[in-house]
Amino acid sequence: MKKEVAVIGLGRFGGSIVMELSEMNADVLVIDTNEARVNEYQEYYSEGIIGDSTDEAMLKSIGINNYDNVIVAIGDNIQASILTTLILKDLGVQKVTAKAQNTYHGKVLEKIGADIVVHPERDMGRRIAHRLVSSSVVEYLEVSSSHSIVEYSANERFENKRINDLNLSDKFGISIIAIKRDNDIIVSPDGQISILTGDILILIGSDEQLNHFESTME
Ligand code: ADP
Repeated sequence: MKKEVAVIGLGRFGGSIVMELSEMNADVLVIDTNEARVNEYQEYYSEGIIGDSTDEAMLKSIGINNYDNVIVAIGDNIQASILTTLILKDLGVQKVTAKAQNTYHGKVLEKIGADIVVHPERDMGRRIAHRLVSSSVVEYLEVSSSHSIVEYSANERFENKRINDLNLSDKFGISIIAIKRDNDIIVSPDGQISILTGDILILIGSDEQLNHFESTME
């Protein structure tokens, strides 16, 4: 089923969302006050509007509440981002995803009813920091404000150790939820499975537990 998505703000973040959605064959409406931006992305969307998303009458006239998903990707103009999100929820848009520039902006977006608040710069910074600190961390994904999933490349210290013998849950409080081995993925691996060097362990735990594991195993 084709999803109808509207993206407001075609900066680097909004622009990359539009390109990805176009790859996924979604029907995309874009809105930006900047004509040059709307033109720049024209091959990726089905409808483009040069307009101000804080103009409630304009949003109403284009039937914005018929869209399943609206993404507020306005960057630096925090006031416009907040006002737009508020108007979208007032108009009855089901799912509004908004990009936050900082923690306080994020809190305000949550309070006024944004369904999903994303912090792309902060999240990317955290992911890169983890990869820098531990050369074995290949990916880092936040699942809540306190817990994360880490993709960890097993070095020779893990070679031929059985999951049960590693005892990561007792030692660190973390769990292996899957193992990537070559092109295979072993989901919920059995405790009898032996790890091989180069396996990617997909681990879940609290940030504190994962940090402890990363620094101990480095
Ligand atoms: P990024 O950090 O993702 O690059 P920017 O702040 O550079 O974000 O870009 C945000 C985009 O949002 C710009 O193209 C800007 O013209 C657009 N924009 C800002 N305010 C509004 C608004 N009220 N209505 C529509 N588009 C807006």
